[in-house]
Amino acid sequence: MEVRIAHSNLPRVVVIGGGFGGIHLVNKLRKFDVQVVVVDQYNFHQFQPLFYQVATSGLEPSSIIFPFRKMFQKNEHVHFRLAEVEKIDSANKEVLTNIGKISYDYLVVATGAGNNFFGNENIEKYALPMKSINESLRLRNVILERFEEALGYEEEERDPFLHFVIAGGGPTGTELAGTLAEMRSFVLPKDYPELDLSHMRISLIEGAPRVLAAMSEQSSQKAKEYLENLGVEIHLNTYVGDYDGKIITTRAGEIYEAHTLIWAAGIKANFVDGLPEETRGPGNRIWVNEYNLVKGFENVFAIGDVALMDGDPNYPKGHPQLAQAAIQQGNNLAKNIMAIVSNKPLTSFRYKNLGAMATVGRNKAVVELPRRKFAGFFAWLVWMLVHLRSILGIKNKWVVFMNWVWNYFTYNLSLRLIIKRKDE
Ligand SMILES: Cc1cc2nc3c(=O)[nH]c(=O)nc-3n(C[C@H](O)[C@H](O)[C@H](O)COP(=O)(O)OP(=O)(O)OC[C@H]3O[C@@H](n4cnc5c(N)ncnc54)[C@H](O)[C@@H]3O)c2cc1C
Repeated sequence: MEVRIAHSNLPRVVVIGGGFGGIHLVNKLRKFDVQVVVVDQYNFHQFQPLFYQVATSGLEPSSIIFPFRKMFQKNEHVHFRLAEVEKIDSANKEVLTNIGKISYDYLVVATGAGNNFFGNENIEKYALPMKSINESLRLRNVILERFEEALGYEEEERDPFLHFVIAGGGPTGTELAGTLAEMRSFVLPKDYPELDLSHMRISLIEGAPRVLAAMSEQSSQKAKEYLENLGVEIHLNTYVGDYDGKIITTRAGEIYEAHTLIWAAGIKANFVDGLPEETRGPGNRIWVNEYNLVKGFENVFAIGDVALMDGDPNYPKGHPQLAQAAIQQGNNLAKNIMAIVSNKPLTSFRYKNLGAMATVGRNKAVVELPRRKFAGFFAWLVWMLVHLRSILGIKNKWVVFMNWVWNYFTYNLSLRLIIKRKDE
């Protein structure tokens, strides 16, 4: 069955995924003479860098997601379809989705990345990932439920309920650990005066020899120092080997008792079925050339986390799976699609590294810009500014800003809500 989309004589560009890469591409393409069809499994764009604040009751989910239909309201040539793409049929120039097939002249795969549990079914079953707004909200529920559950036990039996283990010491794990530690100091004692929160433990398990391993030694060291000052227990050179929902066993055989394991330890690109197997590279990413054209195709492109670009001497293992790489590829590809349509030469993609940053609790962050590295309060202000600028929608920017200000002074946002179906 064909998905009904208004007929147009313009060339049709189908974009699978409205993440950072997808929306920046569409933002540019909508000014040109092409029909654009955006297909996403959700009806909103998600701002992943702030998922951890939803999970720790610091922000409402709606302030960091933005509906596609609102985004494209004024663009008659841009269409959105809520659907999950199941397969690409390149021979017939169609994508097959759960609501039917959609034909294309040009196809852009911008499906991002999902969780990587490295094949461990137990970890997949019991650990809590944070790769979508739904998962962040589930994590918020579980974190709050652990305190409610602990109340039902004698003091000496409560420890595993109050032990939060985070696997993965990248920016997500580090930011989450810092925020949980601050909740322990400032928020939870007010909500749970009956619990002895000195028993609440936050452990960060990282396989590499340092946290924030993608940043410099100096930033890693600073972040570690901040975390330790907040009372986070850091285990470096340590890999989670197994988890049964109660006991974490590391690959070296150490045991941690915890009812909550948060998984921030790995990602795997969302390769789409139907593309030839030889286009699948390491990390499940799709091999593309310098124009983001999928190897062997003339009208199928991939951008962002899912794309693995061959031939950039500065990034022999592909570009970092970060928002900036996706955004810059989306912008460059829009120019190239228009160049193809109007028979003009293409522009090779060149990644401009704008830096990296992570915050560790209030007033503290580490920032690495191309020419400067700094940490502390100023870094934290820069971190806030950069994130506020990047959130879509003026209302969302305001809501996030107001929440941050309110939280800064009161430590008491009223978002500690467990919202779920009865049977969950
Ligand atoms: C918790 C977290 C924190 C992060 N923090 C930072 C940070 O601080 N700074 C930074 O630069 N980067 C950060 N990142 C990484 C950054 O979010 C990604 O690099 C970026 O989102 C990649 O953009 P993308 O367009 O490739 O994919 P995404 O933004 O992931 O978008 C992919 C889209 O494709 C859709 N999709 C996937 N498969 C299908 C399908 N089969 N059918 C239909 N739709 C589909 C998804 O619903 C999604 O909307 C973070 C990521 C996470 C998870």
